[in-house]
Amino acid sequence: MNYNIALIHGDGIGPEIVTEAKKVLDKVCDVYGHSFTYKNVLLGGASIDVHGIPLTQEAVDTAKSCDAVLMGSIGGDAKTSPWYKLEPSKRPEAGLLAIRKALNLFANLRPAYLYDELKEACPLKEDRIGDGFDMIIVRELTGGLYFGERKTEEVDGVMTAVDTLSYNENEIRRIAVKAFEIAGKRKKKVTSVDKANVLDSSRLWRKVVEEVAKDYPDITLEHMLVDNCAMQLVHNPGQFDVILTENMFGDILSDEASMVTGSIGMLSSASLNETSFGLYEPSHGSAPDIAGKGIANPIATILSAAMMLRFSLNLDKEADAVEAAVQEVLKEGYRTGDIMSEGCKKVGTVEMGDLIADKIK
Ligand code: NAD
Repeated sequence: MNYNIALIHGDGIGPEIVTEAKKVLDKVCDVYGHSFTYKNVLLGGASIDVHGIPLTQEAVDTAKSCDAVLMGSIGGDAKTSPWYKLEPSKRPEAGLLAIRKALNLFANLRPAYLYDELKEACPLKEDRIGDGFDMIIVRELTGGLYFGERKTEEVDGVMTAVDTLSYNENEIRRIAVKAFEIAGKRKKKVTSVDKANVLDSSRLWRKVVEEVAKDYPDITLEHMLVDNCAMQLVHNPGQFDVILTENMFGDILSDEASMVTGSIGMLSSASLNETSFGLYEPSHGSAPDIAGKGIANPIATILSAAMMLRFSLNLDKEADAVEAAVQEVLKEGYRTGDIMSEGCKKVGTVEMGDLIADKIK
């Protein structure tokens, strides 16, 4: 089959890691008889340099014309990059928020998986890690506190700021459906995280999630308060399969979950809309401190490409092959600097990409 993939190389280490992910995808094409047509899209600093703005309508249109988008990361060093002298709406990150909105990417998926080979990097004690963990956080991405009305004004002589947290039942239903669908392909458990003891938006969240659960009788649903979830993630991470939550809770919990895996360079992510279309990117940023040095870990981007194969292109076998290749290379002891440990073989970005591509069968 032929698929159209929009490639956003981005800024910092973005071009280096996307090149390696493309190398792996090209190998998947060779082995499984597919062909991918790539269309380059500028976003963030790279777009500012050419067009003066972080996202153009042409970039949105190109992305929309493809089956999926694979992205590196965008942004620069806030202290030294000229991009940060621009007003906030013209900076690189504004482009990322705008493309998510334009593509209606309301579901953010962030897996947190502990590789046996990287157990040493996990900051939790052995008895907490148990048999390891394999969870995915499904976060609502286009509603809630980050998109509600906000204002800062003087009230009776006192500066006062207000942010508004609002969700309607449709927004909740569509993200809940995604979470249950994903759980169906995994260990069949959804933990819905809210603050229903305090917030109205959470009480509606809980009610709608329970309604959706009725359509998925084979999936276990549990509710958990967000403060408890923050504790459980470090107390017993192995209990989770799919964590379903709203925008701000998900923002915080997904960073916490990524920290317990111990290796930011390994974590993929996907943002999906109501169809199978999605934008796939590593969870980490553009790492300007190591850009151009050939030492960035490309695995998060390669695993994001695997998610793209699975969720947007419905190529489960091919996604499995990429994930297995990553695991095998780790098992053989190859590491980039960020995940290096004693006795392992240190490799750079390009070698890591070569090793993984070679293992695709
Ligand atoms: P960062 O994730 O870029 O870097 C944090 C630390 O992790 C750095 O020491 C970096 O060298 C290291 N690191 C990150 N990815 C790595 C990899 N693949 N291999 C090896 N080491 C890696 O976070 P930051 O420094 O806070 O942000 C840098 C820039 O990235 C900022 O402009 C920020 O806005 C942007 N950012 C973009 C995204 C995105 O594109 N979605 C996400 C987060 C941050």
